[in-house]
Amino acid sequence: MPDAPSTDFYAAFVKSGPGSFLASRLGLPQPPVLRRYQAGKPALAGPVLLGGQGRLVEPVRELLADYDLVVNNGGARGAEKLGGAVFDATGITNIDDLKGLYEFFGPQIRSLGNSARLVVLGTTPELIEDLDEHIVQRALEGFTRSVAKELRDGATAQLVYVHPNASTGASGLASTLRFLLSGKSAYVDAQVIRITDKDATAPADWDKPLAGKVALVTGAARGIGATIAEVLSRDGAHVIAADIPAAGEALSEVANKVGGTALPLDVTAPDAGAKIAALVKSRHSGLDIVVNNAGITRDKLLANMDESKWNSVMAVNLKAPKQLVDDLLAADALNEGGSVVDVSSIAGIAGNRGQTNYGATKAGVIGIVDAYTPVLAKKNITINAVAPGFIETAMTAAIPLATRQAGRLMNSLQQGGQTVDVAETISYFAAPSSAAVTGNVVRVCGQSLLGA
Ligand code: NAD
Repeated sequence: MPDAPSTDFYAAFVKSGPGSFLASRLGLPQPPVLRRYQAGKPALAGPVLLGGQGRLVEPVRELLADYDLVVNNGGARGAEKLGGAVFDATGITNIDDLKGLYEFFGPQIRSLGNSARLVVLGTTPELIEDLDEHIVQRALEGFTRSVAKELRDGATAQLVYVHPNASTGASGLASTLRFLLSGKSAYVDAQVIRITDKDATAPADWDKPLAGKVALVTGAARGIGATIAEVLSRDGAHVIAADIPAAGEALSEVANKVGGTALPLDVTAPDAGAKIAALVKSRHSGLDIVVNNAGITRDKLLANMDESKWNSVMAVNLKAPKQLVDDLLAADALNEGGSVVDVSSIAGIAGNRGQTNYGATKAGVIGIVDAYTPVLAKKNITINAVAPGFIETAMTAAIPLATRQAGRLMNSLQQGGQTVDVAETISYFAAPSSAAVTGNVVRVCGQSLLGA
């Protein structure tokens, strides 16, 4: 999938011969080229080192049988650069044993190739009874977030907490590992993902994890939503692309491109849920995936903000995503085993000047995830959110140059993300193979310096 046209002239300049020379002499940031997913290409550029002595090493070895794995031999093969390193830290139960992280990752840092992936596997601390074990498992987060800040050349580090009762096969972990150990997570950095004890079934083809599913994407006429439609369709879903009637032509283009259905619809309309329910019940056997992506900004400092700016942002960004799920459930239009993915923002985590209305709605979206996780779990439906940071879109291209450049560089990967980075994360959450992944908020922000 082609990257969005970037207005990042600085990145283009430092990639040129003279620019690169100047940047290194002046100590200026030189954003790495991130390796992204391409069908048919290896998931990573090199082998994956697997280590640790917890309950997950063996299951992981089996789950990743088609990867080029190097198991516990203490290092990469010869001069070969590593594509990734996975450490099972679930066996760490006391402070002294945390040294295992230091001993495993320390010697590998210099052997990492472009866009290499470090993954730490732990046990969900809140679910551990033993005090020492709880403490050291919690400590994994600080290690992961810190090492992520030391990595170069597009490499990232993530932490995956697995439920203590996850079955020995740990099948619920497979989709998460495959997402993290691939170019699909190019702009996801220093994130913590929690996996429940549910089993999950691997798709017949990991390149088509959404085969046979019907997905609704709101705000699909342009920007991030248009790319979500493309990626979900690439992954096998039939996409219903919805956007306001005024977006008509652009919406039809997106729907045509992905062989989906265009649905002109204002998500704030009282009958929006009923219309979608009627469509999916008459033309399909219900809806499997709901992506609440439609969103607006109406920025103003609070003291100067008129009421309409407050109300419209609340209506589109927070009321509609909740109402849509309520209405689809009431109409019995959301299938068992389905998924809901909402789009939050780092503004909802860190806050943003001039965005009290927007920040409130995007934090509210995280509230929707928290509140609905147990409600939807009763129907085996997952709910998760992505929180994008600086993504290259028409919206961010309109930000004044200096602020835009600062926004781009203030993260560990020293660049803005592409719309495809958000879309890949959504597709990972949406897949039936992610049935054990619910209640998560994953930031797609290159480990932005803003927020947690
Ligand atoms: P965009 O403005 O390019 O696209 C949003 C789409 O939503 C538009 O096509 C618009 O017509 C549609 N929409 C707006 N109101 C609607 C309504 N009432 N009913 C149906 N459709 C409606 O924005 P984008 O940058 O692609 O953002 C997509 C989502 O990502 C939003 O929720 C946004 O808040 C979030 N986000 C974006 C960024 C970023 O850097 N671009 C960062 C964080 C979060």
